[in-house]
Amino acid sequence: MGKNFIGIDMGGTSIKLGITDETGRLLYKHEMPTRPEEGAEAGVERMAAGVRRLAESAGVFWKDVKGLGLGAPGFLDQAEGKIFRLTNIPWENVPIREWLQNLLGIPVVIDNDANVAALGEVWRGAGAGMTDMVLITLGTGVGGGVIAGGRLIRGVGGMAGEIGHIPVEPGGVPCGCGRQGCLETISSATGWVRLARAAVEAGRVTSLESSVEAGTITPRDIVNAAQEGDLVALEVIDSAADALARVMAILTVVNNPAAFVIGGGVSGAGETLFTPLREAYTRHALPDAARDVQIIPARLGNDAGMIGAAGLTAKGTMLG
Ligand SMILES: [Zn+2]
Repeated sequence: MGKNFIGIDMGGTSIKLGITDETGRLLYKHEMPTRPEEGAEAGVERMAAGVRRLAESAGVFWKDVKGLGLGAPGFLDQAEGKIFRLTNIPWENVPIREWLQNLLGIPVVIDNDANVAALGEVWRGAGAGMTDMVLITLGTGVGGGVIAGGRLIRGVGGMAGEIGHIPVEPGGVPCGCGRQGCLETISSATGWVRLARAAVEAGRVTSLESSVEAGTITPRDIVNAAQEGDLVALEVIDSAADALARVMAILTVVNNPAAFVIGGGVSGAGETLFTPLREAYTRHALPDAARDVQIIPARLGNDAGMIGAAGLTAKGTMLG
């Protein structure tokens, strides 16, 4: 008789469902469209049906399913099990924990997507075996999850780890949070593209000009141009790396992690990002605290959310 756990990773376009054993090994997964327009009630019912199908496909008896975790992008009340507001999904004030528990009859825990991914990486990924680690996800925004002393840190309002909204540039550009100059405005995919566009608009000569003018530019274009030696592309990456490294230097003296694990689409830039990031970190961080800190890529990719969500119920927040 085994113990199995369900992890759900909700995104704007798809919902990923996975089932793990008690060690976090992913046994089976599938994906369904989010269909934000169908409304929360229908969406949650479809999710519950998907969960039962998932257990069946994995050959797991329902009685062996001991819990379900769910990660979603946006603002959630972890303690109350409620979704306040999500990014790209118009669900508001949804008591999703209660709904799923009623539909499935198993304990449910929810948390935001970056916290859940941090749990996944520290359970089965790049941070395995660490008690102190910070996950930073570089995507459309910048997300973070902090593991300290073997625990996921949530804080009194669940906002711990929202490092994308650490202000780094006085008088900087507006951020989605309503303030200015947050890390997210510089070091996210959106930030990279904005910096490249600003350089083109300032008349700088760069191979990125055509993709900026066509409006098709992505971080991948910037990485490719940087690898060809394009100065503007190199400067964009340096600026993004420098801002991120300053924030990492701050976090280093707050909770002295063993590693910063960097995930999200932008981390696909590989050494083109990691080399300037490590150099900038060495410049900014307190040497005695930073000496042994690793800056490493996330390992679980798109599975981090599912595995970490399963970990929410399998392990709680204690992973030491
Ligand atoms: Zn912000």
